[in-house]
Amino acid sequence: MTPRGACPSLAAPMPTGDGLLARIPAGPMPPARWITLAEAAARHGNGLIEITARGNLQIRGLHPTTVIPFTEAIGTGWPTDPLVTHSPLAGLDPTEQADPRPLAAAIRAATPALPPKFAIAVDGGGALHLDALAADLRLTATATGWTLQHGDTLLPPLPEAEALAALLAALADPTRRSRLPLAPRPPAEPLGLHPLRHGLALGIAGAFEAPRLAAYAEAAATAGATALTGAPGRALLAIGPLTPGPLLETAHRLGLITQPDDPRRRIAACAGRPACASAAIATRPLAEALAPHVPPGLALHLSGCPKGCAHPGRAALTLVGLDGRIGLVPGGTARDRPTRMLDAEALPDLIALMQDAAP
Ligand code: SF4
Repeated sequence: MTPRGACPSLAAPMPTGDGLLARIPAGPMPPARWITLAEAAARHGNGLIEITARGNLQIRGLHPTTVIPFTEAIGTGWPTDPLVTHSPLAGLDPTEQADPRPLAAAIRAATPALPPKFAIAVDGGGALHLDALAADLRLTATATGWTLQHGDTLLPPLPEAEALAALLAALADPTRRSRLPLAPRPPAEPLGLHPLRHGLALGIAGAFEAPRLAAYAEAAATAGATALTGAPGRALLAIGPLTPGPLLETAHRLGLITQPDDPRRRIAACAGRPACASAAIATRPLAEALAPHVPPGLALHLSGCPKGCAHPGRAALTLVGLDGRIGLVPGGTARDRPTRMLDAEALPDLIALMQDAAP
């Protein structure tokens, strides 16, 4: 099981309300491997697969007796390092300042044991930069070298070897953490088409239940994708010499999200009933019903119970399942005391409340 404060991995899954959760770090794998993973998640878990805000994969609903069969079923080669992150289009994006993969590999080789949850971003720049990702140490490629952000200090650009040495020196003081960049760029948008040096990447998002993920991965292979990878922003990128039209049609048919302004992106919903034994309400159907009515700018969190798995932090409006009813928490978390309780069927009331909560 996962030690306190550590990230849940395949080797150390974390107990949650719907069984054990295992996390697989973001990284490209061929579509056929994703089909195998989806089938294994359905057979050995509850079939719910999520892509996190950092682009990592989460397999839900595993059981102590199914973790090893699941791990054997998906095979080797999946990424294992959740702590050193680079762009999902590293080495492929013609607009990146530098390929971050060699530096990331050098950091991994030089830092066998980082503190739990200590994150290092190695950001080559480009369309999908990492400014939205919290990181304790941040290397960012510029036209003249790599900058290192350590706490509230930003070192001037350094050649790659010196940047590595500076980062290793900064690791000697792991308590001095930063989280977000001191000079953020305009937000990166993973959804849509991204031209690559050779080929294209297509970003989509959505609820990746096992059959839907397997069907999309199969369509991606048919459309020419050589790899799929999770990407920051809860997105899935298909990469390769793509013919994007048929793949977009498949994504629409499967109910996946292809447009950045799709209102479903404003909702964070956990597994809910019936997938999770702790859930008091069915969050996913409620999310589908409420999505067309979520006003722009309103972040809505639907939680089947007060554990708040889908969004542990505050949201503009949280709806939390309690004893078969829905509690309303404006500006708080699923653990906070609701200001009001509604019947689970009270859809018109919920829609009216969201309109009132619009920023
Ligand atoms: S928040 Fe949702 S997924 Fe997490 S334990 Fe509660 S009902 Fe289950």
